This record gives sequence, structure tokens and C-alpha cells, in this order.
Amino acid sequence: QKCLTVIPQISLNKALVRKSQEARNQAYCPYSKFRVGAAVLASNGTVFTGCNVENACYTAGLCAERTAISKAVSEGHTSFKAIAIASDLEDRFISPCGACRQFMREFGSQWDVYLSKSDGSYKLMTVEELLPCSFGPEDPRTGENTVGNSKL
Ligand SMILES: [Zn+2]
Repeated sequence: QKCLTVIPQISLNKALVRKSQEARNQAYCPYSKFRVGAAVLASNGTVFTGCNVENACYTAGLCAERTAISKAVSEGHTSFKAIAIASDLEDRFISPCGACRQFMREFGSQWDVYLSKSDGSYKLMTVEELLPCSFGPEDPRTGENTVGNSKL
């Protein structure tokens, strides 16, 4: 399957960025014309990719990052090492929206986010750096530690 690719440790960062660029080519963005791709690396080395998927009802659209992470989670992966994000911006590193930052945060704050430019160059940040002082699954909501709690 296209989304199931294991990449070697060597040049992992560049390979992940390249995967996000390939996913960008699948972007469904007839409204914004702004193509975005993402590639998330699960802890077991599996890569899942995603693109933005827009909708005539604009708010129903989905970002590339959440598409990729949802594909991984739906295949049983909830532990991640890194995610790379690509767009067609030449002079700016693509930056995830607030919703995607929170979506990433659900699966930990100490993993890597590669923000890339169209030429493949990238800036590395952690989820923690992108979303400081965040609210996550270990924060109390029901008065007990709620990770994996079906009451959520
Ligand atoms: Zn987003």
C-alpha cells in the first residue's frame, strides 16, 4: 500500500520530507489551491502520509497533518517519532495550524515536526515548541488519569 512505507534510518529526515512532498501532490484543494502534504513516522518505522482534503462546505475540510495522523491511528499506531509537512511555499517554512498542533499533542509533546519549504529544506521543531503550555490526555478532566480511559 502506498501509505505503508518503511524508510531507513539514514537520511531519515530528508526521506520523510520527500514523502510529505509526494503526499502534497495528492492534495485535494480546489478552493484554496494551496497544496499541503504530511508524512508521519510511527515509532516502529512505518510512515503514513496525508494531504489536505477540502470540501464544498469549507469547514468540513481536513488538513494534511490530521489526515496522515488519522491514517496512522486507524492502523493501530499512536506512538510517533516525527512528522514532516510540505507545501508549495518557496520562501516560508510551512507551519501547522492550531488544530493540527493540538491533534499532534494528543500523542505526546516530545516528538519532532519538520516544517519544510518547497525546495525540501526544513526547520525542525518539537510539538512542545509549537504548542507550549498545552493540554493533553494526561491532564485531569474527570478527576483521574484519563489516558486510555473509556470515560473520555
Ligand atoms: Zn491544520
